[in-house]
Amino acid sequence: MFSRAKAVLTIESGNPELVQAQLAAFTKQVPLLYFMLVTNTVALTVTHFHAAPALLTLYIPSMLYAVSLFRLVHWWFSRHRRYTHEEATARLRSTYRLTALLGAGFCAWSLSLFSFGDAYQQSHVAFYIANTVIGCIFCLMHLRAAALALTAIVLGPFTIFFGTTGNPVFTALALNVALVTVAMIFILFTYYRDFGALIQSQKDLTERQAETQRLSDENHRLANLDSLTNLPNRRQFRAELERRIEEAEKNGTGLALGLIDLDGFKPVNDAFGHGIGDKLLIEVGDRLTGFSGEHVFPARLGGDEFGIIFEGSPCPVRLHALGDEICAALQEPYVFNGQTARVSGSLGISILGDAGTTADRLFDRADFALYLAKQNFRGTALVFSAEHEVEINEQGRIQQALRAADFESEMYLVFQPMVDADTNGISAYEALARWENPTLGPVAPGTFIRAAERAGIIGSLTETLMRKALVAAQSWPDHVRLSVNLSTRDVVSTKTVDNLLDIIAESGVDPARLDIEVTETAVMRNFALAAENIRRLAARGIGIALDDFGTGHSSLSYVHKLPLTKIKIDRGFIVDIATNELSRSIVKTIVDLSRNIGCVCVVEGMETHEQVVALRALGCRMMQGYYFARPQRLEDTLAYRAVSDTIVNGLIRKTG
Ligand code: C2E
Ligand code: CA
Ligand code: CA
Repeated sequence: MFSRAKAVLTIESGNPELVQAQLAAFTKQVPLLYFMLVTNTVALTVTHFHAAPALLTLYIPSMLYAVSLFRLVHWWFSRHRRYTHEEATARLRSTYRLTALLGAGFCAWSLSLFSFGDAYQQSHVAFYIANTVIGCIFCLMHLRAAALALTAIVLGPFTIFFGTTGNPVFTALALNVALVTVAMIFILFTYYRDFGALIQSQKDLTERQAETQRLSDENHRLANLDSLTNLPNRRQFRAELERRIEEAEKNGTGLALGLIDLDGFKPVNDAFGHGIGDKLLIEVGDRLTGFSGEHVFPARLGGDEFGIIFEGSPCPVRLHALGDEICAALQEPYVFNGQTARVSGSLGISILGDAGTTADRLFDRADFALYLAKQNFRGTALVFSAEHEVEINEQGRIQQALRAADFESEMYLVFQPMVDADTNGISAYEALARWENPTLGPVAPGTFIRAAERAGIIGSLTETLMRKALVAAQSWPDHVRLSVNLSTRDVVSTKTVDNLLDIIAESGVDPARLDIEVTETAVMRNFALAAENIRRLAARGIGIALDDFGTGHSSLSYVHKLPLTKIKIDRGFIVDIATNELSRSIVKTIVDLSRNIGCVCVVEGMETHEQVVALRALGCRMMQGYYFARPQRLEDTLAYRAVSDTIVNGLIRKTG
């Protein structure tokens, strides 16, 4: 009971929001409070001016005015101030004390006037006190403690004083005011409780808003972060690139975009497991972050793709050097739990201004440079240049011409034999595409196949070529096989493979006579999907040849997982086979591997007699190359067959 009463009469300093709200609400009432106090006081001094001594009508009131004025001025200058919790509590305490002090002062002063006046003037004193105190209680509504203290200090003496005058009017008045005050205190309690509840609910609302904001910030952070490497993700990278392009253009500074693609990551993932694969990606992120001092901003764009923003010097030579440094860092071995994994990263760079002025352009150009780097200079950096722009335009023209082309009449096939060196008989023909465009003239297959891939029309091109190749095969003896190339896109397109299976079935050619050539890079790009399509082809009895073997980074474990029937060793190893010991040992390994897994091994690019001799010594039997025949028109394949059939077993002769 006592402690509750004490709580009611003290400031709730444990509730900072309430204290601040009280101070703010009260501050608004201060001028009104003093206005009322001073006007009422002036009125009382005027009615008593001649009746009471100057001490009571002049000096003491002047002192009270001075205090009031001082408080008002103080209020005026501090009305916009923000207070800490401690300051606010201190201010409330001093208001509390001042209220008690002024209440006692004004009350004592006004009661002391009572004995000097007549009945009217005495009534004025009673009216003054009752009226003023009720007004003040109203103004102190938000400061319950102060309002209660004032009530006790003023109304206690007031009721006793007038209740004991013996005058029934004053007794009635005292009683009346006491009752009204009780009612007012009741209202005050209710009001104060509601005020407290309002502040509490505001506080809850603010807390909830803050929590919502926090969650939304966290969400934003996560939406922009790659959860594995903690690097920014593609979304943030893109936004950051756009922002920095704008900034660079405004300030006239340089900027470049780099795109990194890891070479050989998938085999690592497969051989060591996803746990190590994840660690490797994290390590790649760390190594890239290590270049932050060079104004490099790295991000993970997805899978084994990373992006970099280079800020500052737009000098291609410097960027190239920095890019190569980054590639060298990525090439260092990755050691986890005593196991060593190796990957490399190719980097394509596009410079703001040189390569374009929009994020889209820079992405496109960096992607092109990356593509070239992967094709020709794996594990190094390549800066997009003006010559590349010419090449892109050229490609654009080719793509346009391809879209308008009539495949049926413009595309044709040439055939290059695969020769069995033991018998010198032709074991198969590889179909190679040719395109003769009316305006562009002949276009190299490497160029138009890539353009068809980019234009998204490779599927229908491959289907047309397959139809033509199957027709050609029908003119050869049954033991001569047909080899058809699939592009990277075809291998991972379920639809294209479905269509090809239909075309083969309709052709009447025995699927067992057919080989499909896929490159290891195509297979590695999306192993799961490629493997599934390859299995579907193999299930029909079609042979699967792994083309350009040795140029990619596929591990032997991958080769094992595919139903391969043929491995074609890339021409690159044959060129220097007579002189290069390393090429010889690589070819020897591949030949042995093929034998172990029951595959036929074919060497491509045989151009000289010396090469043939060297490869025969290594145990190679199937060969393809200009030495035997250049790719030829269908009519000529028949002629070659006529000649080759007459060749004596074991004797190698140049034909075609
Ligand atoms: P590829 O599949 O590796 O084809 C072998 C390429 O090596 C052919 O070039 C062929 O003419 C060439 N070649 C054969 N023997 C020798 C030789 O002794 N020395 C030299 N220097 N080259 C030799 P081609 O016809 O220009 O084709 C280039 C590439 O274009 C092909 O490489 C293949 O990847 C692609 N391609 C060709 N036709 C098709 C096709 O119908 N479909 C698809 N998807 N790609 C094709
Ligand atoms: Ca091929
Ligand atoms: Ca090849």
